[in-house]
Formats: sequence, C-alpha cells, structure tokens
Amino acid sequence: VIDVELSGVRLAQAITDRARLSARSLAATGRAPTLVVVVATDDESSAWYVRSLARSAAKAEVTCEIRHLGPAATTSGIQRAVRDLSADPDVHGIIVQTPLPPGVSMVDVAPWISVDKDVDGANPASLGRLMAGYPGFAPATAEAVVALLDHHAIDVAGRHAVVVGRSTVVGKPVGQLLLDRDATVTVCHSRTPDLVEHTRQADVLVVAVGRARMIRAGHVRPGAVVVDVGTNAVEGGLVGDVDSAGVAAVAAALSPVPGGVGPVTSMLLIEHTVRAAHDAAQRVIPD
Ligand code: NAP
Repeated sequence: VIDVELSGVRLAQAITDRARLSARSLAATGRAPTLVVVVATDDESSAWYVRSLARSAAKAEVTCEIRHLGPAATTSGIQRAVRDLSADPDVHGIIVQTPLPPGVSMVDVAPWISVDKDVDGANPASLGRLMAGYPGFAPATAEAVVALLDHHAIDVAGRHAVVVGRSTVVGKPVGQLLLDRDATVTVCHSRTPDLVEHTRQADVLVVAVGRARMIRAGHVRPGAVVVDVGTNAVEGGLVGDVDSAGVAAVAAALSPVPGGVGPVTSMLLIEHTVRAAHDAAQRVIPD
C-alpha cells in the first residue's frame, strides 16, 4: 500500500485561491483577466473539457469565453481568429482546443498565438523559451507534474527521473522541467526497447502515454514516486496509464486518476491567464 497519494485537489484549491485574489485586484483596475478558448470541433470529450475549464475559470473569477468556429473551420480561418485575439488588449489568455478539423494542423495555428497570451505553451517560441530558460508559459500539464511533486515536498534534485512519452505537450516539456530541477532525466517512447529496464531505474517515474494501465507493478522500482498523467476513458470511467492497484503496492507515492495531475492542469491554465493579465498591465505606458 502506498504511503502517499499525490492528490492534486488541495493544490488546485490553493492555486484557485491565489488566482482569485489576483484576478479581483486586476478586475478592480478594469483589467478583468480574460481567457478565450478557440474551439473548432464537435468532439464530445473536447466539449466536456472546455466546460470543465470554464468552471475552473469561474471559481477564480476569471472570464472564460468560448469562441466556436465550427468543425468546418479552415486553417486560415483559425489563424485569423487567433491573430485577432492575439491583438485584442481585452484578451489575456488564448487556448486552441484540439482536435482541430481534418486537414488543419496545430503546427500552422500555434505560431499565431502571442507568446504573451500563450497560457498553454503551445507556440513553439514558448517551448524555445522553456528550453533556453527565458520567462514564459510552459505547457500546463507538464508544469502540473512538477507542481504536484513540489506540493508533496518531493525533491527531484539528483534523482533519476524517467519520463515515458515524448509529446510536445507533455513528455518533452516535463523532461525539461525535471532537468531544470536538477534531476537526471531519461525520456522513453514507443521505440524504446525494454521499457521496463528503464522504468525500473526511476526514482521518479512520470507516465504520459495514453494507454490505459500499461505501467504495472513490474515496471516500478520499490519505493519510487510515480506520477500518472494519462487519462483514458474506459467502461466505468476514467483511468490513468498506471495500473494503480498493482503499482500502489510497490510505489512510495502515486498520483490518482482522476484527481491528480488533471485538476492542477486546469487551474494552472487559469493562473497563467491571471499572470498574463498582470504582465499586460505592467507593460502599459502611463499617459
Ligand atoms: P501523445 O501525443 O499520443 O504521446 C504519447 C507518447 O507516448 C508518445 O511519445 C509515444 O511515443 C509514447 N508511447 C506510445 N506507446 C508507447 C509504448 N508502448 N511505450 C512507451 N511509450 C509509448 O499523448 P500526450 O498528448 O502526450 O498525452 C499522454 C496522456 O496524457 C494521454 O492519456 C492524455 O490523455 C493525457 N493528458 C492528460 C492531461 C491532463 O491534464 N491530465 C493533459 C494532456 C494529456 P512515440 O513518440 O514514439 O510515438
């Protein structure tokens, strides 16, 4: 049985409280933080996610607008919408929701998100900033992983962190954030032979693959800390990439799904929006 459940619920609440305080003082000066989510899909799980994001925003008294472009939106239509939002001084945060319509790639859209408003670190320039150690927004899910470790007082410095998954939204930026905290980082992926060889060496194992319960007790070194980023819809609800029942017997700490990385991610997006509104206010040159 695990010693520590790495719950994200309390941390998400603390971020909400912090963001709300800051949002209120910005609103009092006429700069109510505003997030716009660009949606170009009918996808039901995406609609569910956007609604939950809007609820998170409401808790922190941040305005959240959904800009529906419809599933027939074109690359240039989405680019124009994002460009206009980037130029709009009343908008502080921009998220482009996936999936995008068939034939439209995030690669063509993300560069149009102003880096100052890129609250989910989607613009490649934001990722460049992250790599180079410049201020900017990291992808929220990746940041949520390290925020969860910090919150539970798990220090990764000098430890071996193994990340399974190398996507641009999770795996790669998590690897960078762990490296920034002085972990020794190994990143595994679908072409890694003998995955178990690597995962068994992890002091801290972060899993972001998208395959229900693929990481089992045998993948985990006894006493390791395991963060499960996966969210997989299965019959009976949502499960992670980690077989929690098995892994809980060997790990020292394990994040639950749901209730771990997820709620922290949503609130970080809202907090980033508040920070973007704050930074925008600092950039205004007084008359
Ligand atoms: P993704 O873009 O599909 O990337 C998955 C990664 O896993 C890829 O790098 C892939 O390797 C690797 N992989 C696939 N099969 C593997 C295997 N058998 N062994 C080792 N590696 C394997 O997914 P993602 O966007 O990073 O998301 C990962 C998971 O996190 C999903 O379940 C997603 O729903 C979840 N997620 C959660 C949140 C949250 O807030 N909680 C946010 C975002 C994502 P290759 O690169 O070689 O293909």
